[in-house]
Amino acid sequence: MNTYYSTKTNFYGSITPQELIDTYGSPLYVYNETILRERCREMAQLIKYPYFKVNYSSKANSNLELLKIVREEGIDADAMSPGEIHVLTAAGFKPNQIFYIGNNVSSEEMRYAIERDILVSVDSVSQLRKFGMLNPGGEVAVRFNPGVGAGHHEKVVTGGANTKFGVAPDLVAEVKTVLREYKLTLSGINQHIGSLFMDPGVYLTGVERLLEIAAQFEGLDFIDFGGGFGTSYRNQAGAKRLDIAELGAGLEERLTSWTGSYGSQPLFKVEPGRYLVAECGVLLGTVHGIKKSYATKYIGTDLGFNVLTRPVLYGSHHDIEVYHKNLEGFIKKEVVTVVGNICESGDIIAKDRELPIMEEGDILGVMDAGAYGYCMSSNYNNRLRPAEVLIKTSGEPVLIRRREILEDLIGTFLVKVEVNKSEK
Ligand SMILES: *Cc1c(COP(=O)(O)O)cnc(C)c1O
Repeated sequence: MNTYYSTKTNFYGSITPQELIDTYGSPLYVYNETILRERCREMAQLIKYPYFKVNYSSKANSNLELLKIVREEGIDADAMSPGEIHVLTAAGFKPNQIFYIGNNVSSEEMRYAIERDILVSVDSVSQLRKFGMLNPGGEVAVRFNPGVGAGHHEKVVTGGANTKFGVAPDLVAEVKTVLREYKLTLSGINQHIGSLFMDPGVYLTGVERLLEIAAQFEGLDFIDFGGGFGTSYRNQAGAKRLDIAELGAGLEERLTSWTGSYGSQPLFKVEPGRYLVAECGVLLGTVHGIKKSYATKYIGTDLGFNVLTRPVLYGSHHDIEVYHKNLEGFIKKEVVTVVGNICESGDIIAKDRELPIMEEGDILGVMDAGAYGYCMSSNYNNRLRPAEVLIKTSGEPVLIRRREILEDLIGTFLVKVEVNKSEK
């Protein structure tokens, strides 16, 4: 059989996409350890400034084995929920390596973090008050909204006047009042302006804004500028990468000059999610049906939006590679629409895309699917979530999450078990 190799050098290590599918089934998330470690190291070296720490925003991909690799690279982690705290703890992160950035969390959820000595960031004055009542005299962080936002889609812009996140800068006095009232120590402030910026300028503007807010508080232990570092997603069209060197230089310059006037030395933090994991992941799927209907040629696959939601949710582009049985097919290309197997007409992975001519049984690779891929998957249409495989640096594949089985779809209906647990 002729095998077409990925343009991502050595992505599949010692195994081919066909062998992966034969061994682990289709669809399948495949990750590459070397690429993950490269991205972690690149972020860790973003600036030379010694008081600098990277926190991985684990909501982008919370596979236990990937989290362990991130931890080995000396990176701390952000959690958005008790579930993420639970999984991060299982991956070996210590309480002081986890930062709980809650949004409208319940008292129980806040208490979950407090009882484990995990630092909590609150998202409003009312949540600060809730924290004060639960943990008077404790340490807390406050998330501010610097008034600037960025992102690839309005749904992921999380700073600026029109988002639900953070405390507006004009509420600093009120924050101070509540801190005093409950004898709380403000250990740090944080922000996150949105997801997927490609222009360093917008992030640096956010940095400047947060530093202006930070100057109104004395003795902060840390200032956290958030994530959002973009992945280009259009490498086949030659899209440029985010200029990490330019971003690092801009950041370094701003931090150095600001610290001189601040009076103490806070730790500076960033919170990349996507940037660390997007490129290390490919989603493999199989072509099961091909048809021409009116003016459109459809390539029907097992890659429904239950497996990868981004194209349907955000209209996101993912490059697609075809691993063809018949190499001849690569000489000719045609415009097709690649769809999944979910009973909704919006179930489209790629619309009007020029791809090599395909036949049933061909394997597709959806590129840069490591971030917001598996973690946003669902059982919609009672479909099973796929397995996940890691290509180790040695080239060997390792199964790091099993494919779901039909019994998994029934598990939560066994209500008796659930009742017993909560009575404990
Ligand atoms: C999601 C999130 C991040 C990471 O965003 P990316 O775009 O994946 O880098 C960082 N900080 C917070 C608070 C987030 O919610």
